[in-house]
Amino acid sequence: MSRVSVSKSKVRSAARNASLERQTQRFLELRRGLEQIDYFCKGTVLKRMMKCGKAQCACASDATKRHGPYFELTYKANGKTVNVKLSPEAAPLYRAAAQQYRKLKTLINRLDKLSKTILRHQAKLAESMRQD
Ligand SMILES: [Zn+2]
Repeated sequence: MSRVSVSKSKVRSAARNASLERQTQRFLELRRGLEQIDYFCKGTVLKRMMKCGKAQCACASDATKRHGPYFELTYKANGKTVNVKLSPEAAPLYRAAAQQYRKLKTLINRLDKLSKTILRHQAKLAESMRQD
């Protein structure tokens, strides 16, 4: 009876090790993705067409005659929305950087999840080696 339970626990621990090995490989793979991240920037680039406010200007009555486009970067800092004006030249740079930021966040979330799984495995492994 006790031999059966020992072998079962060995099988379980072998499966755990194989799974840990896979998770570790996946972690290293994802971590390499961090090196692919280019300059990044939190936020979203908005493109706006504006009314100038002059009553006699065409923009006042015709939405297609509004001025612009004007670009701005918007993001939250300390719970407040921050808007930063961008030149038309800067806009694509920041748009690409914002995309990199989202990519980085996704990557970090995955690494975080995977790390927690691996840490749980490692803790179990360490606990199984405890000598009372
Ligand atoms: Zn106008």
